[in-house]
Amino acid sequence: MNYDFLIVGQGISGSIVALQLKKISKKFKLLESGNPNTSSRAAAGIVHPISLKKCNLSWRGREFYDFGKAFYKEINFQSGIELYKPYKLLRVFASFEEQNNWIGKSNNEIYKNILSLNKKVIGSVETKFGSGIVEVCSRLSVNEFLNFVRRSSLENKSLKNDFFYPEKLKLKENKFYYQGDIYSKIIMCDGVNALKNPMFNYLPIIPNKGEILKVFSETLPNQIINCGIFSLPEIKNIFTVGSTYSNEDQQNKSTEIAKEYLMKKLNKIIDTDGIEIIDQKFGFRPTTPDRKPLIGEHPIIKNLYIINGMGSKAILMAPLLISELLDTIYKNKPLDSLVNIERFAIKIEDVNINYAKSLE
Ligand SMILES: Cc1cc2nc3c(=O)[nH]c(=O)nc-3n(C[C@H](O)[C@H](O)[C@H](O)COP(=O)(O)OP(=O)(O)OC[C@H]3O[C@@H](n4cnc5c(N)ncnc54)[C@H](O)[C@@H]3O)c2cc1C
Repeated sequence: MNYDFLIVGQGISGSIVALQLKKISKKFKLLESGNPNTSSRAAAGIVHPISLKKCNLSWRGREFYDFGKAFYKEINFQSGIELYKPYKLLRVFASFEEQNNWIGKSNNEIYKNILSLNKKVIGSVETKFGSGIVEVCSRLSVNEFLNFVRRSSLENKSLKNDFFYPEKLKLKENKFYYQGDIYSKIIMCDGVNALKNPMFNYLPIIPNKGEILKVFSETLPNQIINCGIFSLPEIKNIFTVGSTYSNEDQQNKSTEIAKEYLMKKLNKIIDTDGIEIIDQKFGFRPTTPDRKPLIGEHPIIKNLYIINGMGSKAILMAPLLISELLDTIYKNKPLDSLVNIERFAIKIEDVNINYAKSLE
């Protein structure tokens, strides 16, 4: 069978590629290995354009948020499920300095409809230094979103559909041949697994481990609160609490240290007696040294692309950045140089060059 695209990996990135290709009537096949502990499967799904620590709009934040909002609302409509929902996020300040900074920003024209000061008491949450609200915030139910894309896009719905790069891929007259099918283009959306991939493992992807808890609580408030870590209401009395960030811990399992860290942080703003942990998950975020995604065409193998390095903001950034990549492919528009993998072309190694040659 002939396809326009092979998409490798059905995390948030691969899923959004699939949905956007469908919209422009491109024929694709999506392969997903079914690893249950991916970054996307662990993600809480919170999306807003603010960098909370510094109380700043994040890079291209508003533009990403507005594009993503329209994109996800269309997916709500297509799926008939409210996968993407607006929320307000309560930020509990850690100091008077943070409070002052927030007050200053919320009076600034740019932040006027984005940040406000909170004057209400929120259940038994302790807000010694006050609190603020991010008015522009939503939540994507990531697992349900991935399941929807899986149901509607995966040809082979079996969980195990690994792409074996070196052994089976061939390239003839600008077309990729893989397991009996022919593809015009390939988009690799394989997250941290790209580090094992001879096509793109010269790129500086840093796996950043994140752990997250599911808890039962009768005291946590029914809105997103953030005090460095967050609590997110799921269904009645069930909350997601996260996340940790670690570049050091590379163990493929959940840890006691992370559990203790999250509960200790939560205990700073609410009494955690009576909060019961019912589940714990982990995943490795694909992060980069310059905190910008890795997007673009392979420097040697034409028509082979990558979308990676989304860090902790895939839900915010991926819809617009993927649309921009498709505009580069089909409308010849230049890609944002800050995300373009050209910036790391110098890092390509012999092993990658030899792999590229071996495809012919
Ligand atoms: C605890 C935690 C909480 C987070 N919370 C948020 C949040 O609230 N908001 C937010 O925006 N981001 C959040 N993130 C970050 C977000 O999860 C990542 O930015 C995002 O998941 C990256 O998506 P991806 O599709 O690029 O990569 P991945 O999620 O890693 O997906 C890659 C996919 O490729 C598949 N794959 C890999 N190799 C192959 C192969 N050879 N063949 C077939 N399939 C393959 C994998 O199985 C996987 O499904 C969080 C991350 C963690 C860990």
